[in-house]
Amino acid sequence: MKSLRNIPAIDELLADERVKTLISRYARDLVVNKAREVVAGLRDLLKNSDEDLTRSEITTRIINQLSARLYHCTRGTLRKVINATGVVLHTNLGRAVLSPAAIRYVNEVASSYTNLEIDLDKGERGSRYSHVEDLLKTLTGAEAALVVNNNAAAVLLALNTLASGREVIVSRGQLVEIGGAFRVPEVMRSSGARLVEVGTTNKTYRRDFEQALTTETALLLAVHTSNYRIVGFTEEVPLAEMVSLGRSTGLPVMQDLGSGVLYDLSSWGLAGEPTVQECVRQGVDVVTFSGDKLLGGPQAGIIVGRAELVERMKRNQLTRALRVDKLTIAALEGTLLEYLNGEPRKQIPVLAMLTASPEELAARATRLCGALEAALGPEPRVKFIRVVETEDRVGGGAYPIHNLPGYGVEISFSGDILSRVARNLRIGEPAVLTRLQDNHMIISVRTLRNDDEQLLVTRLVDVLGGNDE
Ligand SMILES: *Cc1c(COP(=O)(O)O)cnc(C)c1O
Repeated sequence: MKSLRNIPAIDELLADERVKTLISRYARDLVVNKAREVVAGLRDLLKNSDEDLTRSEITTRIINQLSARLYHCTRGTLRKVINATGVVLHTNLGRAVLSPAAIRYVNEVASSYTNLEIDLDKGERGSRYSHVEDLLKTLTGAEAALVVNNNAAAVLLALNTLASGREVIVSRGQLVEIGGAFRVPEVMRSSGARLVEVGTTNKTYRRDFEQALTTETALLLAVHTSNYRIVGFTEEVPLAEMVSLGRSTGLPVMQDLGSGVLYDLSSWGLAGEPTVQECVRQGVDVVTFSGDKLLGGPQAGIIVGRAELVERMKRNQLTRALRVDKLTIAALEGTLLEYLNGEPRKQIPVLAMLTASPEELAARATRLCGALEAALGPEPRVKFIRVVETEDRVGGGAYPIHNLPGYGVEISFSGDILSRVARNLRIGEPAVLTRLQDNHMIISVRTLRNDDEQLLVTRLVDVLGGNDE
């Protein structure tokens, strides 16, 4: 209680040279607001305390807290994370890392005016959607293309345009939920279309679709079961059958592909996901997929398909609400150009990570292990560090039952410091996310970027040296 009367008034604080320095560095209003918060907090604290502090002690305490608070609230919250989990497309970690070409494009477009909506040839108003449309047509073989905010938006737009107020037939086995609350029945409801589920969880036949046809039917929908597989006694209607049913009834067929592979990964043990080109070739009328999953680009929802249907989507009012930003278009164009005239498997980080050879991964793990041993030296809190085989994953709702055999470094700590080390790695800078398994720390090298290995060594040395706490 006693110290309360020694708390300085805000004006007095603002006159302090140390606070004046803060005001020269940060916005004045911010400093004043944070000073009020700190003073209020300290007043609450001192009310119930017998601490006897002088005015000068209290002022110093307030200024130290103020300074720390200003630092934290002005450094932003989105930052680099070193992904040592071995999950290539980690939705929580922002999915795909962009290619150098995509980053160059973003840089160029962000730092100047652009021809986003102007046709430079004719000198007339143009369309932002024209920029990647030709590239997408060339790469997928489709008649037309449209890019929106994400794949959830693509599905919503397609359903709303093609089936609002009418019925859409889907197999029960494909009523997918994707992390982050994309659920087929709910997207369907939001779009205004009525879901007609047919078949059973494990078996759906062509005749199930045929029996559900009514004069209200507007669309036949197939959804890629991105993040699960139904195995055992199962049956789904193959895409070719869906297309043939669509042709004979005059109904469009849509496939929500989810991941949208453009590059055939079957030579790298990743078979079984249909490529976008394959779906188009089979005659599917509308295909939707994500820009930031296996494509390896920015967050975006890509719609390719028959020109007449895509044209109707472009004219839908919803398109304006779901439209993509110029930075997205730039990143997508840079990524797609890599597929057309570059070296996608080398230059697009997602593809490079997925197709890294076991020999390369083993060599990188050995190098990292050596660097860690050398940097940590004899350290009593580390029981052992060794190279191990890891089970990496594609992630991002693709190849859900595939393990990617990889390599990494396993660290065993003595005592029970593992979770504290993991936490300190997470909250420091740059943040490091590792995998904890059987009371050990596993660092997969597949998902480490160029200079991550060195940074990781430094962070571990800092954490164990106590410099971080
Ligand atoms: C990932 C996925 C979505 C959602 O895509 P976003 O780009 O995350 O909006 C929708 N459908 C399927 C089948 C998916 O795999």
